[in-house]
Amino acid sequence: MVLVTTIDFLGKWSSNTIRGERTAAIVVDRHTLIECGPHTVESLLDLKIDPVDINTVAITHMHLDHFVGIAEFLWYRAIYNSEDTPVILGPHGLRKNIDSLIKATMTPESFQIKMDVREDVNYENIQQFRANHVIDDNGYRIETSDGVLFYSGDTAYSEEVVKGSEDVDYLFHEMTYTDLQDKEAKFWKHSTVSDVLRVFSESKAVNLVPMHLSVKSLEACREMTRKNPNVISPERKSLRF
Ligand SMILES: [Zn+2]
Repeated sequence: MVLVTTIDFLGKWSSNTIRGERTAAIVVDRHTLIECGPHTVESLLDLKIDPVDINTVAITHMHLDHFVGIAEFLWYRAIYNSEDTPVILGPHGLRKNIDSLIKATMTPESFQIKMDVREDVNYENIQQFRANHVIDDNGYRIETSDGVLFYSGDTAYSEEVVKGSEDVDYLFHEMTYTDLQDKEAKFWKHSTVSDVLRVFSESKAVNLVPMHLSVKSLEACREMTRKNPNVISPERKSLRF
């Protein structure tokens, strides 16, 4: 039997919202969702992935562009009477914040909200590493049947991220800023092009996929993909390995 890992891209963007872009998120093998920003349900449906078939959600941190879609996701599953309970991974405080969202959105009491929330723990094939952001943020190292990937979440340069992404086949790393925006990157604890290339080199990852882009860093990303065949564009719909 030939096993193939499939990565579907739901979005590649940061919180600097522009028309036509959705926030950074991927689906691994059509059942593990990494990040759950606004409109995640619509993005899944656009890719013909039923949100009911997602059994694991890994959220890196609880900023709006990575997290608020969890309310839509849980509403969808309640409305369509999903019988399964999804595991939801994320940093400390996740359960409390999801409960707050469920309350704040006046979720009808008749809705069966099913979730198995696990904070700051490894789960099955998913290992968590603390990244370096303005709030607690976990990167995830995920082993599939065919290889290993690492998803950084939002982070400035981080030795933990280097450790987590050691020798992976695919490093998905945020690249919110260009080198000319180093000041903003430092202030918000995000990565510039140079920060990302440093992690790529130190981790010895085989391929790099820049994520969580802005208008300027998208231009830089396009340039990087032209120069280096091991830099993979997040503008594609999917990736197989
Ligand atoms: Zn973000």
